[in-house]
Amino acid sequence: MKYGSLISKIQGLSKGGIVRDPNSFSFITQYPPPLTLNKISNFKFKRRAIELYIHIPFCTGKCAYCKFFSFCVKDKKVIQNYLGNLEKELKIYLKKSDLKDRVIDSIYLGGGTPSILRIDQIKWLMRLIRKNLRVSKNVEITIESSPETLTAKKLFSYLEYGINRISIGVQDFNDDILRFVMRRHTGKMAIEAIEKARKAGFKKINIDLIYGLPRQTINHWKNNLSIISKLRPEYITIYHLRREKGTVIATLKKSEFPSKEEIIKMYLEGLNRLKELGYIQIAPDQFASPGNIFEQQENKWKVGKELIGLGASGYSFFNGFVYYNARSIKDYSKLVQEGKLPVWLGKEVSAKELMRRTLIFGLKTSGINREDSGLDKKMFEERFGITVESFFGVELERLRKLGLIKDDGNFIKLSLTGLVLSEEVCRELYSPEIKTQLDKIGDKFGRGGL
Ligand code: SF4
Repeated sequence: MKYGSLISKIQGLSKGGIVRDPNSFSFITQYPPPLTLNKISNFKFKRRAIELYIHIPFCTGKCAYCKFFSFCVKDKKVIQNYLGNLEKELKIYLKKSDLKDRVIDSIYLGGGTPSILRIDQIKWLMRLIRKNLRVSKNVEITIESSPETLTAKKLFSYLEYGINRISIGVQDFNDDILRFVMRRHTGKMAIEAIEKARKAGFKKINIDLIYGLPRQTINHWKNNLSIISKLRPEYITIYHLRREKGTVIATLKKSEFPSKEEIIKMYLEGLNRLKELGYIQIAPDQFASPGNIFEQQENKWKVGKELIGLGASGYSFFNGFVYYNARSIKDYSKLVQEGKLPVWLGKEVSAKELMRRTLIFGLKTSGINREDSGLDKKMFEERFGITVESFFGVELERLRKLGLIKDDGNFIKLSLTGLVLSEEVCRELYSPEIKTQLDKIGDKFGRGGL
């Protein structure tokens, strides 16, 4: 066998810097190599933080626009059994994952209407969490609520059990609209609930409002904002109504709803009025008084932390997967009782999709007067080892030319037009494969009511 030609080829590679020199030869068994490491004296075990969401799917009735996994329950045993299953699900995580070593830095009791639970049930739930998990000292614990379920006693007990943020679903203060969309409270009851929460000692109150509701006019909307200006909650969320298939409002005529233009005006009116009132826009549809952030969302969107969602229909981003729990009490209960995680739909997130997710959610932390508005470019580079432009350059340039995003060197953020069309702009950043998949099923955003 002749080796001459191979050897001269190998020697030729030295021009390109690839040389085997017996004097300096070694084996690579670590990376980065030992000689590039620094002396460290501050080595410590890092406890990675994680967010916790708990879904309580029970409500006092079903709102006409609601597609969430929620329902009205008459048999109180259903709630009690559900809580028992939540404990089982938590124990499965504790047994099979590293959850017990993670620090919980925010907890969100969502639904449904978690405030429908009795005081002793909330106490039990909070104990369950604290007994089994490492909860950060500064944990943010939010409970979603509906005005008709809130009593002064409940509110005091929430604070006693460590719940320090309350979100109150108001949607509109006008009684005719509230009745029409099948809410179970009046505008007055909503105001009283907010006042009661304040009196009980809540320092973090969020109010949810919806614009685009049937029979809602710009004047109704302005009135909502003027009531807000007196109540001064720390957070205000203004949701664009989702007209989901399978809801009562999906059967209404188009003429029952405000026009497209009116809906945009409502959003802009909200944005301008809340800005005038001194609120900071922390996300396209969220506002907070200075110094307040919504931690769970910030951690999910801006920082990209993991989240475990317990309960039927709970959503998780954990262990490299995104997934939803079973969306029926029956399936959910069966799985956890068999000792299995009640996972229903999910996907392992590839490195590329993780970058997209980071960009999309980064953009969703844009706000007209927020200092760190949008995707933090340095954070992206540190996390993925490449610049956001090197991966999404063409897509970002297109959105920039369309006037939908801006780049100030440190952050890529939605412009004012981009804020109005925030979801559509983020949708442009879905991967081509996902877009094709969604085009086939004719669902633009791919939520399908989830
Ligand atoms: S209170 Fe909330 S979760 Fe319950 S039906 Fe109404 S919108 Fe849906």
